[in-house]
Amino acid sequence: MELFGSSGVRGVANEDLTPEFLVRVATAVGTVWGVKEAAVARDTRTTGRPLADAAASGLASAGIDVHRLGIVPTPGVQAYAAREGIPALMITASHNPPQYNGMKVIGEDGVELPVADLERIESVLRTEQFARARWNEIGVEKRVEGAHRAYVEELLDSVDRTRIAEADLTVAIDPGHGAGSLTSPDFFRRLGCRVLTLNAQPDGTFPGRDPEPVPENLGELSRLVRTSDADLGIAHDGDADRAIFFDERGEYVEGDAALAALAAAELNAGDTIVSAVTASRRLSEAAAAADATLALTPVGSTNIVTAIRDLRSEGASVPIAGEGNGGIFFPDYRLARDGAYIGARFLELMAGQPASAVLAAFDGYYNVRRAIEYGEGSEREAIMAAIEQRATRADATLDTTDGYRLDYDDGWVLARPSGTEPLVRVYAEARERERAEELAAGMERALEAAGAQV
Ligand code: MG
Repeated sequence: MELFGSSGVRGVANEDLTPEFLVRVATAVGTVWGVKEAAVARDTRTTGRPLADAAASGLASAGIDVHRLGIVPTPGVQAYAAREGIPALMITASHNPPQYNGMKVIGEDGVELPVADLERIESVLRTEQFARARWNEIGVEKRVEGAHRAYVEELLDSVDRTRIAEADLTVAIDPGHGAGSLTSPDFFRRLGCRVLTLNAQPDGTFPGRDPEPVPENLGELSRLVRTSDADLGIAHDGDADRAIFFDERGEYVEGDAALAALAAAELNAGDTIVSAVTASRRLSEAAAAADATLALTPVGSTNIVTAIRDLRSEGASVPIAGEGNGGIFFPDYRLARDGAYIGARFLELMAGQPASAVLAAFDGYYNVRRAIEYGEGSEREAIMAAIEQRATRADATLDTTDGYRLDYDDGWVLARPSGTEPLVRVYAEARERERAEELAAGMERALEAAGAQV
C-alpha cells in the first residue's frame, strides 16, 4: 500500500496532504463503499475543517449522504459508525505533530478497514475509475450534534462504574488539546472521580504540548500528579485512541507495563493476547502466568487488528491486545483502541490499591530504543545483510515477523528497518540496564561495520 500506511493516510497538511487531494481520496473511498450514507469527523487540528470539508465533498460527489460529526475522538467515531451501521472517515494525524494531518477509514462495523479494502481504494484512485453521482443523486449533508456525548454515554455503560466510584479516586487528565478534551474529563467525572485537567481546551495549535504522549512531552502531567496527590495521571494522543499513565508518585508507566497489568487481570487459560514484535518480556510473563498464548505481529495497529480477526475466526478467544504505545484493544468490547475506555479499565484495577502496586509485578525491566541512520541507496543492502548475518549467527531464538528479534535468556534485541526512512530502529530489553545497553550496542556495532552512522 503506497497511500495508506499501517495507520492510514498521513502527511504535512497543505504540503503533502492538500484538500484537493483528499477530495479525490474520499471519492475513491465512496466508490469502493457504494453506500447511501457515511460519517465524517475530525480531531482539533487547525487544518481539520478544510480537510473534513474536502472528505465530505468527495463522498457527496460519489452520491453518499454525509453525517458531519465535527470534533470527536476516533473511538467515538468508531462507536457512531457501529451504532448507525454506516462507514466513516476520520480526519486526524493521531500522535503526529501539529502541522500534520491524515485520514483513517472506518467500516460500518466501527473497525478500521482491512488491508484488502484499502488496496481497492488505492486502485480506484490510481486508475481514476470514480463512481460519480448524477446531478440529481448527489449526496446531501446532515449536521449531527452530540456524537461525542453519545460516545460518553456508551462508555459509561461499558465499565464497572460502582467499583470505580467506590475507589474514590483523583485523576489528572491531559488530553493534549486533542479531541479527548471534549470527552475524557466529563467521562471520568461521571465515573465518580475527582478530575484535574491539563491541556484540556481543544486547540489545534497545541500550545501546551505536542500531541504524542511520550514522557518528554508529559513533564507537566507528572508534576501535576505529584503536587496534587492524584492517584493516576492519564494522557491521550491527538485523537484519544491511546492512554499513557503516571502512577500516584508521578512516575511514567511504560506502556507495556500497563498492558501487562491489564492483561494479567483479563486473560484466562487458553486465551490469546496479540501484540507486536516490540513486545516486552512483561507480556510473555503475564501470558505464561495465565496459561495464555502471546501472538506477535508486525508493528502497527492494522496488523494487530488483522491478527485479532484471523484468530477469532479460527475460534480463539482474544480478550486483550495492543502495543506498548498506549494503544490497547479489548476486542470483546470493541475492535478499536479507546483511550478513555483503557483508562477506566485501569481504574477498575485500582480499587483498594495504588497504581504502583497494580504495576509492581511488571516493574524491573530496562528498555532501550534507538534509531540508527544510514545513507540513501546501495547501503541499504549492506545494512540488511549485516543484520541478517548478526541474527543468524547469534546464540538466541530468532523471530523474523518484522525485522530480526533475538531472544536470549536474560533479554532481547530487535532490529527493524524502517519502510519509509533510511534508518533501522533498534529495541532492547533486559532486567539490568547494562545488559539492555549491551544488547543494543552489539546490534549497533554490526550496523556500524556495514556503514551506518551510529
Ligand atoms: Mg491515535
